Amino acid sequence: MREHDSLETLKGVGAKSAALFSKCKIYTVGELAEYYPRYYDKFPEPKTFAELKEGEKGAVIASVHSRMTIKPVRGLKVCVMKVKDDEAVREIAWFNSPFLANVFKVNQKYIFVGEAVLKNGILTFQHPAYYKIDEYKHLQNTYQPVYSLTEGLTNNAVKRCVAQLKPLFERKKEYLSSEYLKENGLMSLPEAFDNIHFPKGKQQIIEARRRLVYHEFFRFLIYMDAMKEKGSKIRNHYTVKDVNVENIINGLPYKLTSAQERTLKEIREDLSGPYVMNRLVQGDVGSGKTIIAILSLFMVVKSGYQGALMAPTEVLAEQHYKELRKMLEPYGIKVCLLTGTVKGVEKKQLYEAISNHEADIIVGTQALIQEKLTFADLALVITDEQHRFGVKQRERFAKKGNYPHVLAMSATPIPRTLAMMLYGDMSISVMDELPMNRLPVKNCVVGQEYRLAAIKFMKTEIEKGHQIYVICPMVNESETLEVENVTDYGQKLKEALPDAQIAVLHGKLKEAEKNEIMSAFARGETDILVSTTVIEVGINVPNATFMLIENAERFGLAALHQLRGRVGRGTAQSYCVFMYGKDTEKNKERLNVLNESNDGFEIARMDLEMRGPGDFFGIRQSGELDFKLGDIYQDAGILELAHKHLQKCKEERFDFSAYPELSWDTGQMLSI
Ligand code: ADP
Ligand code: MG
Repeated sequence: MREHDSLETLKGVGAKSAALFSKCKIYTVGELAEYYPRYYDKFPEPKTFAELKEGEKGAVIASVHSRMTIKPVRGLKVCVMKVKDDEAVREIAWFNSPFLANVFKVNQKYIFVGEAVLKNGILTFQHPAYYKIDEYKHLQNTYQPVYSLTEGLTNNAVKRCVAQLKPLFERKKEYLSSEYLKENGLMSLPEAFDNIHFPKGKQQIIEARRRLVYHEFFRFLIYMDAMKEKGSKIRNHYTVKDVNVENIINGLPYKLTSAQERTLKEIREDLSGPYVMNRLVQGDVGSGKTIIAILSLFMVVKSGYQGALMAPTEVLAEQHYKELRKMLEPYGIKVCLLTGTVKGVEKKQLYEAISNHEADIIVGTQALIQEKLTFADLALVITDEQHRFGVKQRERFAKKGNYPHVLAMSATPIPRTLAMMLYGDMSISVMDELPMNRLPVKNCVVGQEYRLAAIKFMKTEIEKGHQIYVICPMVNESETLEVENVTDYGQKLKEALPDAQIAVLHGKLKEAEKNEIMSAFARGETDILVSTTVIEVGINVPNATFMLIENAERFGLAALHQLRGRVGRGTAQSYCVFMYGKDTEKNKERLNVLNESNDGFEIARMDLEMRGPGDFFGIRQSGELDFKLGDIYQDAGILELAHKHLQKCKEERFDFSAYPELSWDTGQMLSI
């Protein structure tokens, strides 16, 4: 078995299951090996039926009261057995499993595991799993991996496939010396793979995860290092002349901050210098990165070239597109928008306009890195919200031209040392200053009893001509429920505020609808936007001054910080209300961090500290950058360790190419 073997080489995987796996972006056995469990389940402590709640998944210890009876019902064989727990006799039913009649012995105790359902007013199980007492005791000490799934793909199917990968795990070649492993308390690579999928205990999961995070970071750093070697000192093909940007700057309703001025100067020097620019602009939400992108694009276009700007969502791309048109069209610059929704003739025409340089600036989503799209004179590529993309996408974007300048913008609040490791191939501009005219957002953390007061407050804000966001979380993993939630909420709010214009936005709407709702809000036609987190990144409506976040306890603090960043973008005083549903001290304390700090990094750090070991079952954390397991906040120490080791390896001229497992490409299919 080799890393690149197709999944269909596994027993039990045919074209049909391969198609299901491909929905999860798994095509090869190597990729499956890195399809780490989302969390681990433990077998529940047995209870009595009376102790269970309806809908709860639980285990009940009960003895068999009488032999199973089998009745045909509408073509189904219904097998019913009476069991007795400490309190009462109940009936459990199985379907189409007559063989069970010979499995159970009367008066013997078994453990039944299932979801409690009400049958004729009595709680029971339907079609539960069953175990002998000893067998269950043993299982209770184990951790069951739970994988991300897609419809039609069961957890057991994934487990059965992963179980066949043991030989692959064993053959993973260790690139760290045994002394180094010991010194740093790291598990060996084969052991780590084995333990993440087949954990022997809690401690082993923690150690396996730690090693695999190291593995992931180390490979990433090697890759970054190679990119740096390749990218450094490439001749600048697109020299930007001394373009006058004063007119635009003078036309702005504000003065640039000194951080903006400094960043702009750095970019200008890069663009006119002897080598290709490769720069990261890092600035917290609201630091004013967009204008930097606009001015950079302007300089490039005025020097006779094209520029492109990529955003992670259509809504954001649309917003940038409008802003660019508004600011640059008066200078005779042609801006166009390319997203996944552009199809057919329109798309063909757009492609043509781009490839023959009729279009000067192209704003878009990942549609910009589509194979078939070619540019005439692409001199600058900018990715906004770079942390939402991976290195691969950035690289692919750059390959669209003949070594264009690269500018990445990120709001991930990380210290410079960390940024230098994660963006090792780039120069970094830090925008560590918020515009002067900003009043800090006033926050409060309250329970739901405050909702009426919040709605009253909304009314006064609307009367002042301001706008409002209400954020509802996913109530459930299910997207349909999420939709219902915002829709219902919008309805209720309409009843409470009959004069307000209220719109509802969620991920399930068609792109065109989303864009229209967002545009109407940006134009000030809607007073209140009830939304899921689809508005989390980048959205800029400075007239919005009030945000209410419902069930704030369900969000990570970093996400809440980004959400809050949608208000406080103009000159008026803004407010953010974090409303919690479950009133626990821990929730309050956690949310209070946002009350006390406006510093994104500090918030991320506190979040991590407070999440504590209780959350260890969710092994995957912030999901920033393209790490599957590594969390740049939680695992900053491991990143540093790997970084240090890489420097040493380079000094010693370690031969990485002898280790296929160190390729960053294994299991890194592009998500486009
Ligand atoms: P982000 O860094 O989060 O992308 P934006 O570029 O969207 O921030 O800017 C947020 C808001 O601040 C916008 O409305 C923008 O016009 C405004 N802005 C940008 N720079 C300044 C400045 N120097 N002074 C005042 N407002 C500014
Ligand atoms: Mg932005």
